[in-house]
Amino acid sequence: MPARTTMSGKSIVASQFDRAADLINLDAYMRKILITPFREVQVEVPVRMDDGRIEVYTGYRIQHNGARGPCKGGIRYHPEADHDEVLGLATIMTWKTALMDIPFGGAKGGVTVDPRKLSPLELERLTRRFTQRISIVLGPYRDVPAPDVNTNAQVMAWILDEYSSRHGYTPAAVTGKPVSLGGSLGREEATGRGVMYVMMEYARDFGVPLQGSRVVIQGFGNVGSHLARLLHAEAGAKVVAVSDVDGGIYNDRGLDVPGLLAHAAARKPVSEWAGGKRVTNEELWTIPCEWLVPAALGGVITREANANTIECKVVVEAANEPTTPTADLILAERGIPVIPDFLANAGGVTVSYYEWAQNLQQYRWTHEQVNRELRATITRAYAGVRDLAKEKGATFRTAAYAIALQRVAEAERLRGN
Ligand code: NAD
Repeated sequence: MPARTTMSGKSIVASQFDRAADLINLDAYMRKILITPFREVQVEVPVRMDDGRIEVYTGYRIQHNGARGPCKGGIRYHPEADHDEVLGLATIMTWKTALMDIPFGGAKGGVTVDPRKLSPLELERLTRRFTQRISIVLGPYRDVPAPDVNTNAQVMAWILDEYSSRHGYTPAAVTGKPVSLGGSLGREEATGRGVMYVMMEYARDFGVPLQGSRVVIQGFGNVGSHLARLLHAEAGAKVVAVSDVDGGIYNDRGLDVPGLLAHAAARKPVSEWAGGKRVTNEELWTIPCEWLVPAALGGVITREANANTIECKVVVEAANEPTTPTADLILAERGIPVIPDFLANAGGVTVSYYEWAQNLQQYRWTHEQVNRELRATITRAYAGVRDLAKEKGATFRTAAYAIALQRVAEAERLRGN
């Protein structure tokens, strides 16, 4: 496993926030409003295990800002999910929804648990208990959860069922649901698809053609696997290496992505696949490529581990917070641009917005319509960031922050703050 940084989610966000706030001369009081979370809920989650014992977990739901609409953000199950990480991720959600200009604020949830150690029934009981404990702050016009690391459409279905048993059938209370329970066509692949659309725009603007170019992806879960599939099938890119928690696989001629997807669908580690050379998670960062895409956890590109040695033309942050601020500065000095998380991976929340809107209207969009709207929305956001970055001589990250901060600050001011 690569070393993850010890720097907290909160401090990662704060240093990047300051740079953008300076760029738009944000008042001191407004900085305080925008950095302070609106509401934090911490709960105990007692779960009856299959052997009869009761195990008690800790869960969080943090609503960072709701000035522009109901709070929105995923729920993560992970042994390292703690208050600080969830707060950092909730904050990013505020900037992400503002940058996409969709009518939501930002939130995140997490339970400190290793779900690989739970049976399916234990996972269901954990989800239902957690939902009961936080449901007082949820609701379609209050706070709408979605999937994140180690949670999926099935987990969202349990959340929907639990929430609806108290409040009546409320599909708009959660997104990322199975399609048969009111989920949106295209939601599952939306984050990966959005990453690809941003890469396509960047490729055209900055002369790094995707066709035939080499892509390395860390993480082969929801985001990484759909991204690999789409880049292979729709962009003609050469996915040369991917990894998961157990290690990676590399083939400089390009991996047979459909074959690898079939292998991973049988719940086998990618490193056990025969179509390439096995690499460790550390070696993955040394593979030369045009596009390096972290799509697993935060804090993986660091000064200590890899920022000085990565050999790529562009880093695309499909994961949330994969690059520490120090590593970000090193990459900038080395002339390696970074497409920031809350632009690159915003496809998921954008299609969650379409899902929410479809549920409220009780009307289903076609998959083509979802993809068309997603492309238009994320491309518009990308163009805004590109233009501001050029105008101010700023990085994409600082420009993206500046646009988002401006929008949230305006909403706060109009509401009287
Ligand atoms: P997931 O649980 O489906 O997949 C995570 C993947 O990362 C798995 O393949 C896992 O094996 C791998 N992984 C975990 N630890 C690793 C390590 N140390 N080294 C290498 N690989 C490792 O999660 P996901 O939904 O794909 O989310 C991935 C990232 O994308 C997260 O940062 C998440 O916050 C972000 N994100 C997800 C969505 C979404 O819609 N799911 C939206 C926006 C952002």
